[in-house]
Amino acid sequence: MYYPEPIAKLIDAFSRLPGIGPKTASRLAFYVLRMEENDVMDFAKALVSVKRNLQYCSICCNITDTDPCRICQDKSRDRSAICVVEEPKDLIAMERTKEFQGMYHVLHGAISPVEGIGPDDIRINELLNRLTDETVQELIIATNPNIEGEATAMYLSRLIKPFGIKVTRIAHGLPVGGDLEYADEVTLSKALEGRREL
Ligand SMILES: [Zn+2]
Repeated sequence: MYYPEPIAKLIDAFSRLPGIGPKTASRLAFYVLRMEENDVMDFAKALVSVKRNLQYCSICCNITDTDPCRICQDKSRDRSAICVVEEPKDLIAMERTKEFQGMYHVLHGAISPVEGIGPDDIRINELLNRLTDETVQELIIATNPNIEGEATAMYLSRLIKPFGIKVTRIAHGLPVGGDLEYADEVTLSKALEGRREL
C-alpha cells in the first residue's frame, strides 16, 4: 500500500517519536489530514517554537525562554540548597509540591552503563561548576527511584562530598522503579521532608 508522499512523510515523522508505532503514526497522520487548517498551523508553529524559542538555562540547565531561567533569577529563593533532578518534568513535579524553595539542577538524564550513558553525557560538570560558590550547603538528589537514578545518586554523592557539601537523597515513599513526575504532590512532599544524608 503506497501512500501519497506528503502523508507518507508525516507517518514517518510521527513514527520517529518515542512510543509511537507504525499503526499509531498512520492514525495520527490521518487525523492531521482531517484537522482544520488553523489548528494544523498552530500545531506546526508550536513544534518549531520549542526549538527556536527555548534554550537551556546557563545556570541550572533547565529549559527556558529567558536566560537565566525564572527560578534562577528569583531573588527570594534559597541559594544554599540545590535539588538535582533528571528531567525538566521532574522539576515541574517538585515545584507543584510548593515545599521546596531552593534552586534546581537538571541533569538531562541519568547514568546508565547498560545504555552507555556515562557521567560526561549528562550535566554533571555544569553542576560541579556551581559548587565552587560557597553559598551551596546542601545538594538534594531527587533522581528517579530506579537503577539509573540510584546509580546517579551514588556517583554524585561520592563526587560531591569532598566539597564539604551535605548530600541528601529524597526518601523512598516513592514507588520503586517509578517516575518522579507521576508521584502525587503529598508523596513527593513527604519524600522531600524525609530525605536522608548519603
Ligand atoms: Zn535556571
